Amino acid sequence: MLNKKQIRYCLDIFEEMFPEAECELTHQNPFELLVAVVLSAQATDALVNKVTPQLFEKYKTPEDYISVPLEELQEDIKRIGLYRNKAKNIKKLSQTLVEKFGGEVPSTQKDLESLAGVGRKTANVVASVAFDEPAIAVDTHVERVSKRLGICRWKDSVLEVEKTLMRKVPVDEWSVTHHRMIFFGRYHCKAQRPNCEECPLLSLCREGQKRMRKNV
Ligand code: SF4
Repeated sequence: MLNKKQIRYCLDIFEEMFPEAECELTHQNPFELLVAVVLSAQATDALVNKVTPQLFEKYKTPEDYISVPLEELQEDIKRIGLYRNKAKNIKKLSQTLVEKFGGEVPSTQKDLESLAGVGRKTANVVASVAFDEPAIAVDTHVERVSKRLGICRWKDSVLEVEKTLMRKVPVDEWSVTHHRMIFFGRYHCKAQRPNCEECPLLSLCREGQKRMRKNV
């Protein structure tokens, strides 16, 4: 497992490699971000970004989603996986926003998690990106990179990964580290073919060294 100094080195390398890392889901306000993050479950940001321009043109407020028939909303997002459930959740969460939160997206993780289709990861992304709350949302990239490098244990659950990162990363770097780790995992330490040969972290990465030994 990496020590404090090694983790600091990783954070600095993430910053050096992806200084501009940020949320890649196109949005203009917290409500659009919330809808986009709900749509992005088990789908790529790129695909969501293809669908949302027309969607956000047509639906601007929670009331717009409430008043449309479910089938019509499903049709509007059907290019995205799990669209039937996602449409139901977007209608339900819109209803809750109107009934409980005055039509506004709440900023706390607890309130966000009370919305349909919003789990801990989605709540963390919205709290962090829309409201600048310190949070580390653990998606597939953050989990893989943390485990490969040895910041977390292989057996850790997603929640344990989040808690470990919150302990080991300075709080004022949580949000930015989340984005940089996503970029590092998405564009460099990819699931299938991580670029270990050219990785500045190879000397301290347990997974990279194993792969280089095996010539994977
Ligand atoms: S050495 Fe390979 S596995 Fe390790 S962080 Fe770099 S790219 Fe990922």
